[in-house]
Amino acid sequence: MTGSTLSFEFFPPRTPEAVGRLAITRERLAAFRPAFFSVTFGAGGSTRELTLETSLATRVATGIECAPHISCIGTPVAELREVLQHYVAEGIRRVVALRGDMPSGLTGFGELRYANELVAFIRRETGSTFHIEVAAYPEFHPQAPSAAADLANFKRKIDAGADSAITQYFYNADAYFRFVDSCAKLGITAPIVPGIMPITNYSQLARFSEMCGAEIPRWIARRLQGFGDDRASIRAFGIEVTAELCARLLERGAPGLHFYTMNQHEAVEAILRRLDITDGHGLGRGTQALA
Ligand code: FAD
Repeated sequence: MTGSTLSFEFFPPRTPEAVGRLAITRERLAAFRPAFFSVTFGAGGSTRELTLETSLATRVATGIECAPHISCIGTPVAELREVLQHYVAEGIRRVVALRGDMPSGLTGFGELRYANELVAFIRRETGSTFHIEVAAYPEFHPQAPSAAADLANFKRKIDAGADSAITQYFYNADAYFRFVDSCAKLGITAPIVPGIMPITNYSQLARFSEMCGAEIPRWIARRLQGFGDDRASIRAFGIEVTAELCARLLERGAPGLHFYTMNQHEAVEAILRRLDITDGHGLGRGTQALA
């Protein structure tokens, strides 16, 4: 299982307290020697400066590569070009390229309507400068008319020049492996790294899942609902379930783990400790704890 990647995603902090919190989080998670960190980008360019600033601060603080995201929806091509020029000038060499979701109040897609068009644009503008990550949806994107159409659209992104993919989060390992198999049948060989959302809070998770089309299996939802306000039980159960999912994914050959950290380190650390993973460079060799 060499070559597996461990990575951690942040969002740009907006208050001094949040900046301080993220500084602690990235220091704690850097100890696991991830392959890279990534920082989200507000659709419509709303976090444009903050995304780059947070990415550079993360790289300086940890010495580890940090990939800013970039999304095209509602953003003029001229502005995307400027963002890319800044990334190149700052020595950024990995980006996560997305369509994004239209912020409420905005209308009109912009010039680039889908992520495959953004990937093609990045390649046209910057050649092979960047390692380009794109999004993948094992349970399918909520706006896709069918599973087959979504797979074809995912392939368009790879054909346009994406190097690898990170999935939307999911709690059903079979959905992931079936998706990867379908991709292989379409000739896609790019690594598809599972995105992992630690379970720490039921109502927040339910809200996110509703928006992004990720399914919380009924048995997990019922257990979490049953814990009510008992945060310690939610946390213990969430860590156990998420760690078991990660162990299953790595054992069956997933090429890494990408954690949606929500700028918090505690749950991610607890999951990695449970998996016996202390060093991202050795990912996949330390999952005996749950085997
Ligand atoms: P696309 O790949 O363009 O797909 C969107 C929909 O359009 C799908 O239903 C697809 O089937 C369909 N489609 C795609 N191409 C075509 C085509 N050529 N013709 C017709 N239909 C097509 N959002 C942010 O705003 N900022 C972020 O930083 C961010 N980071 C993310 C990171 C990860 C790892 C993931 C999984 C998601 C992230 N998102 C982010 C959310 C993402 O922007 C949304 O899920 C969005 O709705 C879809 O983006 P996409 O890049 O997958 O879009």
